Amino acid sequence: MSDYYEKVKIELQQMKAAEEQQLSPASESSVPADVSLTSRRDISRGSVNERSRSKSRSKADGHERQVNGRQVSDLTAHRSAAGMNRVSNEQNLQVKGTGKIFKAKSAANGQVESCQRQTEEKCEHRVNEDGSKVGKKRRPVTVDSSKAKTSLEALKVSIRQLKWKEFPIGRRTACDIYWHGVSFHDNENIVSGQVNKFPGMIEMLRKINLSRAVRTMQELFPEEYNFYPRSWILPEEYQLFSTQVRLLKDNDSALKPTFIVKPDNGSQGDGIYLIRDPADLRVISGSQVKQAVVQEYIQKPLLIDKLKFDIRLYVLVRSLEPLEIYIAKEGLTRFCTEPYQEPSQKNLSHVFMHLTNYSLNVHSGNFVHSDSCSTGSKRTFSSVLYRLGSKGVDIKKVWSEIIALVIKTVIALVPELKIHYQADIPPGKPGPTCFQILGFDILLMKNLKPILLEVNSNPSMRIEHEQEVSPGVFEYVPSLVDEEVKVGVIRDTLRLMDPAQRKQHGVTNLGVGSPADAIVVDAGSDEKEGLADSLPSLCLKPVFPKYTKQFNYLRVVERIATIFLRFLGVKGTMRLGPTGFRTLIRNCKLSNSSFSMASADILYIDITRRWAGTLPDSREAGMGLQAFIEAFFYLAARRFKALSLREQVVSLLEVCEASLDGQSQSEKPRPHRLYTNANPISAQCSAPSTLDSPALTRRHHYHRRQQPLQPSAKGNTDN
Ligand code: ADP
Repeated sequence: MSDYYEKVKIELQQMKAAEEQQLSPASESSVPADVSLTSRRDISRGSVNERSRSKSRSKADGHERQVNGRQVSDLTAHRSAAGMNRVSNEQNLQVKGTGKIFKAKSAANGQVESCQRQTEEKCEHRVNEDGSKVGKKRRPVTVDSSKAKTSLEALKVSIRQLKWKEFPIGRRTACDIYWHGVSFHDNENIVSGQVNKFPGMIEMLRKINLSRAVRTMQELFPEEYNFYPRSWILPEEYQLFSTQVRLLKDNDSALKPTFIVKPDNGSQGDGIYLIRDPADLRVISGSQVKQAVVQEYIQKPLLIDKLKFDIRLYVLVRSLEPLEIYIAKEGLTRFCTEPYQEPSQKNLSHVFMHLTNYSLNVHSGNFVHSDSCSTGSKRTFSSVLYRLGSKGVDIKKVWSEIIALVIKTVIALVPELKIHYQADIPPGKPGPTCFQILGFDILLMKNLKPILLEVNSNPSMRIEHEQEVSPGVFEYVPSLVDEEVKVGVIRDTLRLMDPAQRKQHGVTNLGVGSPADAIVVDAGSDEKEGLADSLPSLCLKPVFPKYTKQFNYLRVVERIATIFLRFLGVKGTMRLGPTGFRTLIRNCKLSNSSFSMASADILYIDITRRWAGTLPDSREAGMGLQAFIEAFFYLAARRFKALSLREQVVSLLEVCEASLDGQSQSEKPRPHRLYTNANPISAQCSAPSTLDSPALTRRHHYHRRQQPLQPSAKGNTDN
């Protein structure tokens, strides 16, 4: 008990000191920033102490927690260090309300703490033998956690592990890092530092926009992007969907395809349902036409213990320019709670059989909360891989296909993200830089091919789960599986975003791609990037620019976006006006005897008007990037008739880039070209598409012939 009071006393002192420092920022420099072994001990011990206490609260009481009958805020800051070296003495802990025993390791209480204080003191007064100081201590990195929302607890643990400095209620002066729970705009007027959200990411990852972005890539690179199920956007493509399904069934009466309907802005399985016939679509809700995506349902997923499951992988986009992507080596797998059967009219509504969402399955009587990472309804990805590996599955191949899926998906998102970025943070104006953790939901097919289900801009970072102990009374209990994975992801993201690290490594990350050989899955060889030795090696694996050579040829739409950006004109806008479009046509030398400036005007008006109809919520007038891509594809097809679409587009890009290169120096500096087209892989991949995506957006009125939906052994993702 005395240890407990000692701990609370220290915590109160720390909180008081933090408050004082917030009032007088000048005193910050005295806080040591070193990450030492002692910090690990502290965390481990804290974890055990805390786990031995029950935490309960009613649903509405925010971040306050009842601890042993007292209200104590943010005690979870002492939670355990997931994935860190836990120290000696194993303890068994019964977590109240769970009826479960948690195992944890702790150091001998008391002793560790005093050792730790001694070590820190020594450290502060360390001098060389000649009396000179060992080195200047770094100012601790400051993190504004006031908007962290549900990721707060995992963030607190991470900051504590790093010995950084948290500002839980914000700060008058700037922080190094702002951790937002929802969007880039959670805090307004940030003019420096780094924010953990990109502007526009939420919009980009809505189901319709993600489908559009991937579809554009499928048109150019059908083979490379066949990891995303065929999708149709509702209501605008309802007719097309009906026609294609009818054709499909007419061609093969034995085919019984199933489709999954997902509301555009839905999440956690809300509003999702399965259908077998387009007539069953619930397109209208009240008097409103529902925006949704209807998608080919993957009928043969890989099963474990007869259950369908999906994978949640965490991906860090560390920067857009240069593009830097990391993938967490550990993820979560979420299991259904009813044995899987292929869809039939009878079982279409069985959500516990078809949908893997935790938020749904947790309400099933069969849901198993487990404190082990390899059993229960939520497990670590590594435990699943281990199990598959033991059955002879080629794990490295699975991993490298997942890495490719992630890189290709991010490449599909980047063009629009760059438009949003320049609108919110125009070049030359003070503003923060951005990074973001994304949640990739991936399904493995029976043949082990990974399929992208969706990307979440705000993946849950909760490290506790709720239990209703009596009606309306909820108890929060630690979820070891979540903590194991999520704290590692947040902590290592912070380590990579450490301003000192970025200064040291930011530029060197450019162009260090390994040669164009296969993706190597090297679990043991982390890039340490000079990070503190006393912390575990990074759980985030750098994949881009590491694999630049394999994937850069896919960045074609980004080059179109670069041209688009150049002519946007007024800062802060995302739409190209008619004058900008004319200037672009003229400067890129795209008008000629067969395509006059008048034709360019007509093209602009026609395409812009149609896209305005498909984007009912758009407030800004003008031509958006998607509309511009359609215009670009059209111009490319006119000019280079004999080539494939991809070759047409790349050829037109070269024409435009060469013209713009030749422009006078007085123009705004040309954004640098990041890549060449001379890629051996692109040549290999020019085989005709077998993934027959609907590919019949409005864009196709201009540049594509309509293709019927064909069942195809290779391209069909459901085999
Ligand atoms: P939400 O954002 O509502 O979670 P998802 O796209 O992730 O929507 O879909 C919810 C669940 O439905 C997924 O976790 C997965 O189990 C299942 N699912 C989604 N799309 C497909 C698909 N194309 N084929 C098979 N199952 C799917």
